[in-house]
Amino acid sequence: MRLILLGAPGAGKGTVAKLLTAIDGSVQISTGDILRAAVKAGTELGKKAQTAMTAGELVSDDLIMGIMGERLLEDDCKAGFLLDGFPRTIPQAEALKELLAKLNIELDGVVNLNVPREVILDRLTTRRTCVDCGAIYNVKSNPPKEGGKCDACGGAVVQRDDETEEAISKRLDVFNEQTAPLAGFYEGKGMLWDINATSSDVVVGTIQANLKG
Ligand code: ADP
Ligand code: ZN
Repeated sequence: MRLILLGAPGAGKGTVAKLLTAIDGSVQISTGDILRAAVKAGTELGKKAQTAMTAGELVSDDLIMGIMGERLLEDDCKAGFLLDGFPRTIPQAEALKELLAKLNIELDGVVNLNVPREVILDRLTTRRTCVDCGAIYNVKSNPPKEGGKCDACGGAVVQRDDETEEAISKRLDVFNEQTAPLAGFYEGKGMLWDINATSSDVVVGTIQANLKG
């Protein structure tokens, strides 16, 4: 499958993407994960992205399109892909459209994950992430079995430094201003699948039903 996953921070894009990869071998492409890995590795890209990320602001469209232009050429994308956290602005969506046309790739749809704001706030403040493999935990509903250690890889499970209250509130504002308009953009193209996203399993079921048409 080839899908864009749209939704506020904490809407469950990453969780849903991971469930979908298990169905048909499509790869999850998370620009947030790619950027965090670059920051951790201290690459040029990481240095350019770090300040905006810590503040909860967006990294420049140019930087993001550079990453995605290369990523979509990689072999593993042939099995399909789930774009998680990209596009995030109208210019990115326009640039993606051109890129896909050039590569002769057609999307199956754009999934819009709708989650009430209270649920989002609660999820983000209780979310914890493995610094090594990106696995997602929750201090209330899904803590690692051994305190602070990832079940999958043993890495440290921590609160992301853009998950302070201040950065979360900034990320939600940025989402409302710059990313939420993408739903209308794709709806106008007849590509939007609007899904009520309180349960990830229900989301996956709805996506599978939509794919079968
Ligand atoms: P979220 O939980 O907010 O969806 P992500 O892991 O997707 O978090 O992104 C973390 C940060 O990385 C964002 O706040 C932003 O600074 C940067 N980022 C990720 N994807 C993009 C993108 N497509 N365009 C601009 N900035 C991005
Ligand atoms: Zn891990």
